[in-house]
Amino acid sequence: MSKYIFVTGGVVSSLGKGVSAASLGALLQSRGYSVHVRKFDPYLNVDPGTMSPLQHGEVYVTNDGFETDLDLGYYERFLGVKLSRTDSVSGGRIYWDVLNAERHGDYLGATVQLIPHVSNKIKEYIGRPTDTDFVICEIGGTVGDIEGKIFLESIRQFANDVGRRNVMFAHLTLAPYLEQSGELKTKPTQMSVRRLLENGIQADVLFVRSPRMLTPDEQAKIGMFCNLPAKNVITSMNVDNIYKIPLVYEEQHVFDIMAEHFDLPIANGDMSKFHKIEDYLNADLPTCTIGMVGKYFDVPDAYKSLNEALFHAGVQNNVHVKIKKIDAEHFSFDDCKDIDAILVPGGFGARGVDGKIAAAGYARENNIPYMGICLGMQVAVIDFMRNVVGDENANSTEFSKTCTPVIDIMADCNKDNMGGTLRLGAYPCDIKPNTLAARIYGGEHISERHRHRYEMNIAYKDVLEKHGMIISGMSPDGKLPEIVEIPSHKFFIAGQFHPEFQSNPFTGHPLFNAFIAAAKK
Ligand code: GLN
Repeated sequence: MSKYIFVTGGVVSSLGKGVSAASLGALLQSRGYSVHVRKFDPYLNVDPGTMSPLQHGEVYVTNDGFETDLDLGYYERFLGVKLSRTDSVSGGRIYWDVLNAERHGDYLGATVQLIPHVSNKIKEYIGRPTDTDFVICEIGGTVGDIEGKIFLESIRQFANDVGRRNVMFAHLTLAPYLEQSGELKTKPTQMSVRRLLENGIQADVLFVRSPRMLTPDEQAKIGMFCNLPAKNVITSMNVDNIYKIPLVYEEQHVFDIMAEHFDLPIANGDMSKFHKIEDYLNADLPTCTIGMVGKYFDVPDAYKSLNEALFHAGVQNNVHVKIKKIDAEHFSFDDCKDIDAILVPGGFGARGVDGKIAAAGYARENNIPYMGICLGMQVAVIDFMRNVVGDENANSTEFSKTCTPVIDIMADCNKDNMGGTLRLGAYPCDIKPNTLAARIYGGEHISERHRHRYEMNIAYKDVLEKHGMIISGMSPDGKLPEIVEIPSHKFFIAGQFHPEFQSNPFTGHPLFNAFIAAAKK
């Protein structure tokens, strides 16, 4: 049976539970243990994909085509785990399942109640079998939230069901610093731990977010009030980069706390991959500037995975990557003066699309490295069709009823999808030998994640290729162009998918690594 770590948070939201949970996973992995992650969000939306990105940032897409919030991205990047729709569970999903079961008659007319019906459903999701040594479950929200109560009750029961030694409760809190008195205040932490206790949960380890390290006295005081050995009170320092957190925990012997709790042998971990990132961050390196021609810049974290993927590629190339945000709606060639490469990310709707087409054209004409992602591929094709092939009517049917629908909804391309009319999740792609894509990926078969409705229209393949834009990646059935490139250009490549969802800080992603290498050059 897997062992479980539940991560809860108190005092305030946004303490970085996801990063802390991922860091615990990293410490376990560094000692050779396998880890799976699940996230439980008490809110009532049935699935996170329908929540506004204006409130929640980017929509992250899993291999199995689940649209989820960006926290799952942290887990996949940090831990290399592949998550699916059953690993991101909202309160709405739980109630939906329970009420559907009730309508279906599954409870045989019994009174349907929070306990046991809802709590059992939550436990069912928590306990779905995995083949990993550990399952780390993040419980969203803040202790004391009304909607979160049933989740706390369920994890309490779960620990009782499987045995207290198979479950560890990790709790994140905040120690505010009072400038005037120069003090770090521990009372909110005490109150938060007490609130957990009201739910029958004794925290086994505390991660106290703080601007400086807690002193031994402060650790002892918190430990005394919270029923913990002082050594189990860990400082979760504010750091300038999230990949430093596992090192902060490693220095404070957090693995030893887990080892003691779960009765594991004490072992040293190999944290070198995190040290490598730390060294990179501290190094005096040249900078390259990527012009990102997008339109969701006022939404925090709208391009989260993309920014991450560019950072990862910077680590691989020993260069600091600066992102210059260029508003597609007001794009002008002047925006491109001080940049080393152009990237056009994904997007929906006509707003700003002319600027994106112009940006792709500018990169093409001026031999500036170009990478297009999803809509960024579509605009590159539209530009090429208009300005190289010479068909000024070329467009996507997303934007106009054109007589040259070089981007269109393809009749049979959405047959396997699982969410409305979007093509969602991982799809295979065959790479054409002796192309830039083949050199970058170093293989003939790849899999990348999608989230789009429109496709490049295969009917235009021959005319595009005749004029110098080739299709170097194709769906295995030969119907959907997945990658285009311009061989005569220094570096011009675009994909119908979102490679950023599969990048990680330790190896980067081949496409981004190659793009940043080209920008650096
Ligand atoms: N709007 C385009 C489509 O639906 C591109 C989507 C995207 O970039 N993710 O096909």
